[in-house]
Amino acid sequence: MPSELRAELRDARQQGAVVGLVPTMGYLHEGHASLMRRASGECDLVVVSIFVNPLQFGADEDYDLYPRDLERDLEMAGSAGAHLVFAPTVDDIYPSRILTTVHVSEVSEGLCGSMRPGHFDGVATVVAKLFNICEPNRAYFGKKDAQQLVVIRQMTADLNFPVEIVACPTVREPDGLAMSSRNAYLSPSERIQALGLIESLRKAGELLYSGERSVDVIEGTTRSILDEHALECEYAELREASSMRPVGRFLADGEYILAVAARVSGSPAATRLIDNILFTISGEGVLVDEGILTSVASVEATSGK
Ligand code: AMP
Repeated sequence: MPSELRAELRDARQQGAVVGLVPTMGYLHEGHASLMRRASGECDLVVVSIFVNPLQFGADEDYDLYPRDLERDLEMAGSAGAHLVFAPTVDDIYPSRILTTVHVSEVSEGLCGSMRPGHFDGVATVVAKLFNICEPNRAYFGKKDAQQLVVIRQMTADLNFPVEIVACPTVREPDGLAMSSRNAYLSPSERIQALGLIESLRKAGELLYSGERSVDVIEGTTRSILDEHALECEYAELREASSMRPVGRFLADGEYILAVAARVSGSPAATRLIDNILFTISGEGVLVDEGILTSVASVEATSGK
């Protein structure tokens, strides 16, 4: 199946088609659909891969539980502009014991890299395989998985994949919760609890707009909001956005990311959710990426900044 797909896509490219790839693990939602729509606006042929990649799950993680619904996914992919869905089996991708993996150092360290040892090796390996199978001109990834995006960019550059990496904004529920296939695990009360993630990021945004530049204060406040929602914080950390390097004690001019990961405690599966905001500091000014900070924008307006 991978070889047939590769032949088909090669033909299309030889006839001048620009091929876009959207790698996913399925159980598609509007976040995935936004990547597909973007790809279909920019490419002639959009391939969506649906593969729950065992290599990126730890032994005690939710590989078996991970939600799957191929029929629904096919419908959604079609209506979001995908032309081809590649839904391989584990045997298609890993026909034998795999002896080669891709390890991207430094940018994969800390954050999810520490909490989920081996996770980014699994991600980089499967994405490298998908790039080799599909040979896309462009590949689309969500900014929601910010560290993953940096890992993929680094791998693409380091291994000379002739693929343009396109980063797409995080799509949120109307109340701000970042869309995720794992949101399906949440009970109604956990769904409310999960809003602590966006609230912690909004609060950090307010601090930034009010002029706060202390990393301890910003990270500490973010953690305490997660605490207030009884979310078990795995990390709440500021990093340099393009390199994922740790920052000093105070934020200077530059582009940063505040990344959070937390578990909804009390649930048997202890659902793990991640989110982040990207922002730029330039002199007195702060520009926070994306539309999560509506409340912050009004704070900013009323404080005359
Ligand atoms: P996943 O199926 O969770 O592995 O995600 C597949 C791709 O969709 C990744 O590039 C994710 O970053 C992206 N993605 C997942 N959730 C969202 C979201 N809420 N908004 C935008 N992109 C997303």
